Amino acid sequence: MRHFAIVGSGPAGFYTAEALAKAYGDNARIDILDRYPVPYGLIRFGVAPDHQSLKAVSKRYDQVAEGGTVEFVGNVAVGSDVSADELRDFYDAVILAIGAPHDRKLGIPGEDLPGVIGSAEFVGWYNGHPDFADLNPSLDGAHAAVIGNGNVALDCARILAKNHHEFEGSDIVGHALDALDGSGIQTVTILGRRGPHQISMTPKELGEFGHLEVATPVVEGADFPPAEADEALEPGHRKSITILRDFAAHGPDPSKPRRIVFDFFARPLRIEGDGKAERLIVERTVLDDSGSAKGTGEAYEVPASLIITSIGYQTPRIDGVPYDERGGKFANDGGKIADGLYAVGWARRGPTGTIGTNRPDGYEVAEQIAAAMPPGSEGGKAGAKGLSAMLAERGVNATCFDDWRKIEASEVAAARPGSPREKLVRHEDWLKVLGH
Ligand code: NAP
Repeated sequence: MRHFAIVGSGPAGFYTAEALAKAYGDNARIDILDRYPVPYGLIRFGVAPDHQSLKAVSKRYDQVAEGGTVEFVGNVAVGSDVSADELRDFYDAVILAIGAPHDRKLGIPGEDLPGVIGSAEFVGWYNGHPDFADLNPSLDGAHAAVIGNGNVALDCARILAKNHHEFEGSDIVGHALDALDGSGIQTVTILGRRGPHQISMTPKELGEFGHLEVATPVVEGADFPPAEADEALEPGHRKSITILRDFAAHGPDPSKPRRIVFDFFARPLRIEGDGKAERLIVERTVLDDSGSAKGTGEAYEVPASLIITSIGYQTPRIDGVPYDERGGKFANDGGKIADGLYAVGWARRGPTGTIGTNRPDGYEVAEQIAAAMPPGSEGGKAGAKGLSAMLAERGVNATCFDDWRKIEASEVAAARPGSPREKLVRHEDWLKVLGH
C-alpha cells in the first residue's frame, strides 16, 4: 500500500490524482488536501463565471473524488495546520499543486494607491474567494484600466463591460453582480507594453468582444504591421490577430455606450492621484531588435480610477520547500523537487497554459512516482491515519467530499434566478453549513 498527499484541489491536483489512481488501483490511498472545504481551486475561484462550459470540467474531478481511492481532505492549510515536512513523514509522496494565486507586482510608483488592484484580487472578488470578499473595487469613476495583454486581462475587462442581463447563466457572486450593476465605468483601456503581434490572448476570448451587448472594442489599425507579417504566425495566434484587425477595420459600434480600448505599445510608468488612483502615466514604446518593448520618451496619461494589473502570477512559498525566485514557482526538475516531493501545474511550470495543459503534466509526474515506487510495493507510511491523528490533536476540523456536497447543495438552493448557484464566500459560512 502506498500513501500519497496532493496539496491543492484544482485541475493540476485532480489530474495527478486521476493518474495515480489509474496507476495504483487499490494499492494506494490518495488524499487531496485543500485549505478550504470547497474543492476545485482555479475552477471555482479563477475561471470566469460567464465561462460555464470551462467550469464543467469539475464533473470529471467529481468522478475522481468518488472513485474509491481518492479522498478530499478540506479545511487543512499546509504550512500552518501541518508542515510540508510533517506531510512527507506521513506520505510516500507529497505533490504540491497549489497553483499561482498571487499577483506579480508592476514595481512602479503609485502601485499602492487605493483603486489599484491585482487581477487575482479582482477575479477572486467576482468569483467568491473569501480573501477578497471585502475588496470593494472602485467602480464609481467612468474610466478603468487593465494592464497586461493576456487572457486574464480580457476576463477582467469583459466582466467590467457586461450588463446585468449578460451575466444570466453565470455563477458570478451576488455581491459582485450588485456592485457591477451600480458601476459608472464606461471606458476600459487594456494596455499592452508591446504590439498586437505580441499579445497572449486567444481567439475565442478575443472574439467575445465583438458580441457584447453594451460595449464595443476600439482598436487602432496603425498599430499593426503590414498584413503579410501575419503569415508567419502560428494559426491560433494569427486568428487572434485577424479578430483584432477586424475590430480595427469596422471601428467601434456607435450604438454601444461602453468602450474597450486596446492601447498597444503602452508601458506604465507611474500611477498618480490625490490619495487614490486617478490616472496612469504611460510611455509609448517600440519593439527593439529582440522584440522587447523600448521606451520612446513620449509619455501620455490614461484616466483611470480603477486600475487592474494583470501581468502574471506567482506561487506562494511553503516553509522548507526550495523556491525558484525568478520563475515564481517551486524549484523543480521536471516536477521533482526532492525524493518524495513533487510539484505539478502552475506550481511546477509557472502560470501558463490552459486547464487541459495540467493533464499531461499530472500524468507525467504520476509516471515518475510509479517508476520510483512501483505499484504493489510497500512504503510503510502512516498516511491518512497519521495525518488525522495529528490534525485532531491540533484541533483542526478536516472536512470530506460529502461535506462539500452539503455546501454545494446549500449554494444551489440559494441560487438567484438564472444562476446555477449563489456561492458562499466566507470560510465561516462554509463551516456553518457543516455545523462546525
Ligand atoms: P499571460 O498570458 O502570461 O499574460 C501576461 C501579460 O502581462 C502579457 O501580455 C505580458 O506582456 C504582460 N506583462 C508582464 N509583465 C508586464 C509588465 N511589467 N508591464 C506590462 N505588461 C506586463 O498571463 P495571464 O493573462 O495571467 O494568463 C495566465 C494563463 O492562464 C495563460 O496561459 C492564459 O492563457 C490562461 N488563461 C486562459 C483563459 C481561457 O482559456 N479562457 C482565461 C484566463 C487565463 P509581455 O508579453 O510583453 O511580457
